[in-house]
Amino acid sequence: MSTKEILEIVAAEVSICTKCDLSKGRTKAVPGEGNPHARIMFIGEGPGFHEDRQGRPFVGPAGQFLEELLASINLKRADVFITNVVKCRPPGNRDPLPAEINACNNYLERQIAAINPQVIVTLGRVSMAKFFGGEKISSIHGLARKIDGRICIAMYHPAAGLHQQSLKDTIRSDFKKIPQIIAESERQSIEEQGKTETPKSKEEPPEQLALF
Ligand code: URA
Ligand code: SF4
Repeated sequence: MSTKEILEIVAAEVSICTKCDLSKGRTKAVPGEGNPHARIMFIGEGPGFHEDRQGRPFVGPAGQFLEELLASINLKRADVFITNVVKCRPPGNRDPLPAEINACNNYLERQIAAINPQVIVTLGRVSMAKFFGGEKISSIHGLARKIDGRICIAMYHPAAGLHQQSLKDTIRSDFKKIPQIIAESERQSIEEQGKTETPKSKEEPPEQLALF
């Protein structure tokens, strides 16, 4: 099955899913969208008002800012894949509950496995917690970490930047690091391939990229 077909199956399942109570309040589920062969995947928290209406991720004001950020590194929405930890809108935009995140996790895992992105960018604390555990966003934002062979970067949620100029500037400068992080990781993997043919141990601890 092609990546596109797997993503379509996930999206079809999400659109009729009733695995948690968020299904009760939704207008439309929001599976996520973008390039099935994206090198970068962005993972937000959950649909808001506009996303719930349209069934598409990041289409409100936070989405406009995300598009501006993508443009700043010469990317368009269609180049990347954008999704959320939960696919249905939490009432009043509250944080999704652990049980809801768990119930929805399988869809996200299948999307990640199918796309197999080189880089995952988490947007906001909820998405960060899935990849970075209990770390604090104020200390790790904009830093690259290898997790399961993939580069993961935690960013503040774009919505947070809408109300606070200093955060907006921080998010802009964190975003601008993405191309450098990718280039550095490619340089490292070429170097590693050159050094040895031995496969890397699965047990290796997460490494901080040397660049930052
Ligand atoms: N905020 C999110 O976390 N996700 C969206 O899709 C929109 C706003
Ligand atoms: Fe299903 Fe996820 Fe929606 Fe819950 S949030 S109903 S698990 S798609």
